[in-house]
Amino acid sequence: MVKETDLYDLLEVQPSASEGELKKAYRKLALKYHPDKNPDDPEKFKHISQAYEILSDKDKREIYDQGGMEALQGGGGGGGFHDPMDIFSMFFGGGRGGGSRRQRTVRPTVHQMRVSLEQLYKGCTRKLKISRIALCKPCEGRGGAAGAEKQCDECDGHGVVIRMQRLGPGMVTQMQTRCPACGGEGKQIEQKDRCKSCNGKKKTQEELIIEVKIEPGMHDGEKIVFEGKGNEEPGLPAGDVVIVLDEQKHNNFARQGANLIMEEQIDLAEALCGFTRVITTLDDKKIFYTSLPGEVIDHGDVKVIQGRGMPHHRNPTDKGDLIIQFRVQFPSHLDDNSRRVLSQLLPDKTTVMVDDDIETFELEKVGPSHHSSRGRGGHGHGHQFEDGGPGGVRCQQQ
Ligand SMILES: [Zn+2]
Ligand SMILES: [Zn+2]
Repeated sequence: MVKETDLYDLLEVQPSASEGELKKAYRKLALKYHPDKNPDDPEKFKHISQAYEILSDKDKREIYDQGGMEALQGGGGGGGFHDPMDIFSMFFGGGRGGGSRRQRTVRPTVHQMRVSLEQLYKGCTRKLKISRIALCKPCEGRGGAAGAEKQCDECDGHGVVIRMQRLGPGMVTQMQTRCPACGGEGKQIEQKDRCKSCNGKKKTQEELIIEVKIEPGMHDGEKIVFEGKGNEEPGLPAGDVVIVLDEQKHNNFARQGANLIMEEQIDLAEALCGFTRVITTLDDKKIFYTSLPGEVIDHGDVKVIQGRGMPHHRNPTDKGDLIIQFRVQFPSHLDDNSRRVLSQLLPDKTTVMVDDDIETFELEKVGPSHHSSRGRGGHGHGHQFEDGGPGGVRCQQQ
């Protein structure tokens, strides 16, 4: 058991969440609560980022699971947190960078795009309208005519001004604040020289349509980077746009790497005597299969159709497998005649001989009190012998 679940709750996952589930949760929430989209609540974004920073680090997660936040802070492992924006950039990345010198760059803009399993199977091109900050065209991002920008008189070009602040009788302190005249830029354009189009702001909002090419076999969380299509900032290379694919749940198929998993219901008669089925694949084609003659399919049996799973990205002619899990539908009741006929056909039943005075019982339905856990981790599988089968009793040693 973990000591506390606050960090897991923040990411909306169970404490048992895998690395992949954590990644997916962070991805979803970081995009949802990114200050660009959610300017009113920057704290939420920060908290999500910190929770992910801890839980994505194996050692820190272990310390947290055992001793909670207290243990992390006490052991010095808590340390400081990174800037949530850095975590975000590291996670979503941009096309460039990677050099050891930290260059000032424009942060990438990240958009999530929902894609169906069909689209990931076949590949497709999707158009996406994005909004971005671009340099004003008429003034080419200068805010006015060339040379109109002058050093700010108020702050002498420093962008900050020093203010004296009285703390109490006889006590004064110096405070450095952003220059109100130039907004911290250190430069200014006189009203009369400002560009009419952007009023000296140098930037405008613009809409851009990008074509996102989804290739066969791409997966959930895959990033497609459009270099320089993001926000523009005077004097810097334009930022990137990063599209993150968000694979939607499919009604018939679940994806596991390159394999596809599906469930098939069959009747008891089919399970015993064989059957055929037609499957509609993700590219809307039909395939047909038959069970092996004489083979009995058990409830929960798994079979494979080779090469009918998802295409491998960059090598789409090579495909994973299609895995079929069978659910056998048993009849809920049999009349006397069917029972007699069936028991003649089926292999012999076991008959037991008992004494007259043996205690006799009838089987009853299982009630709610019988579902008590067989230890944690048994979500809904209360009837499986998770601790090594019925023979587990043998472990009682004195
Ligand atoms: Zn100034
Ligand atoms: Zn302008």
